[in-house]
Amino acid sequence: MNNTFTNKNFVKLNVDWILIQSELKLKLGVDVYESWIKKINFVEEFNNYILLSVPTRFIRDWITSRYLDQILQTIKKHKKEIVRIEFKVSENKENDNEKSINLNQINNSKKVSFLQDSYLQYNRIDANKRFENFLIGTSNKIAFEASIKVSENFSQYNPLYIYGGVGLGKTHLLNAIGHEMNKNKKVMFISAERFMYQFVKSIKSNNMVKFKEYFRNTDVLLIDDVQFMNGKEAMQEEFFHTFNALLDKGSQIIVSADRPPNKLLRIQERIKSRFSGGLVVEVQKPEYELRKKIIDHKIEELINLYSDKFDISEEIINFLSNKITSNVRELVGAINRVISFSRIYNKLPSLAETKVILKDLLNLSENNVTIDSIQTIVCRFFKISKNEMLSSRRSRYLVRPRQTAIYLTKILTTKSLPEIGREFSNRDHTTIIHSVKTIEKLKEKDPNMCENINKLKNLILYNKENEI
Ligand code: ADP
Ligand code: MG
Repeated sequence: MNNTFTNKNFVKLNVDWILIQSELKLKLGVDVYESWIKKINFVEEFNNYILLSVPTRFIRDWITSRYLDQILQTIKKHKKEIVRIEFKVSENKENDNEKSINLNQINNSKKVSFLQDSYLQYNRIDANKRFENFLIGTSNKIAFEASIKVSENFSQYNPLYIYGGVGLGKTHLLNAIGHEMNKNKKVMFISAERFMYQFVKSIKSNNMVKFKEYFRNTDVLLIDDVQFMNGKEAMQEEFFHTFNALLDKGSQIIVSADRPPNKLLRIQERIKSRFSGGLVVEVQKPEYELRKKIIDHKIEELINLYSDKFDISEEIINFLSNKITSNVRELVGAINRVISFSRIYNKLPSLAETKVILKDLLNLSENNVTIDSIQTIVCRFFKISKNEMLSSRRSRYLVRPRQTAIYLTKILTTKSLPEIGREFSNRDHTTIIHSVKTIEKLKEKDPNMCENINKLKNLILYNKENEI
């Protein structure tokens, strides 16, 4: 089974939860991992959200209030479509015993103090996103240099407004500035969404004084994704005053958004005009050289992380740098998938396999593979008729093509074994399993079989035999 691409792994491409957990372990530390992250199980992935399960409601609430952002961020690195996380509590385990164990863990752990000020949790700078690991090319040089200047020369450009499409490094730069300035200044880093949330919460709990004090007390205010701050007059009002108060006392403000100030929707004109009043810089899509640099760097980083050896071929590196052009996050995600593949299957993917793993990123013939098209293509390839393929005859020249078609259906569609059986003249699901196993075994020993399977995959997925 080792070298087999199972259905789950490449037709639907669920996020790799184990990988995400291990990344979170690095990011949040062993304590947090052991106490919380480890207890989360992956349940199901939907179009734009993921369902996870936890043993108790208490754990769910704790994780939601403290680590949700980081978990989502980590998932998004692998799959940008995921926009939220839902938790399901697997009830039977909820009992008082467990609760008290968890409370003990909290009290014992320095990293998660029970009495932690609720504002502080939104102020976590991701120490993995620094200037040193931000790679520079012509597309992001200006934004990078402006960020460096801001973190060195207090208040020269104020505010600094960084804008550009998703996954181009804006949050990375904000973190890097925060990380640098945190050394001797009071830094506040918050997403605009969080700012709104905190604002509304403070009104509801009659805590506005504390809210104002907290925000107005900072030397450096970093606000990420300001395009999400819209509507709500009262909030914009408060934001504007905070903004002005900070500028007046010489605090540095850095803002990121997906568009230039004048294109922001539902944001007061006077706020937009304040945004434009400092330095406005754009991060553009990475150019070829930068893409290549990012790939090389990322591979090196993963080698260090796993202390494994990955000899990704030049061919694949070229393929990635030529095809994944939209943004850095996707490029990094693509490399992660290639590396995960090689770790799971203990071999490097071929170019054809790479195309399959990255199918959604490459925007190729999206999941329009049907059992019927597989049968047609396999019959044509082996020069037999569909009636022969679907018959019960067991001549050798029919058995292999039939097994091959069954195997390809299993790996290229999301159909269940009984469904596949039905489409192959009501064969039993054990016959389907047997066919899949036979082809898998043959693939291991017979290069000819491998070649045929690859050609067929290409014909089915890309309509071309020599795409490889
Ligand atoms: P944005 O906020 O613009 O959507 P992010 O800052 O979240 O993008 O970047 C997406 C991912 O790509 C992050 O993991 C980030 O560290 C990485 N990244 C983006 N640009 C660079 C770069 N120039 N060098 C290294 N990593 C980068
Ligand atoms: Mg961002």
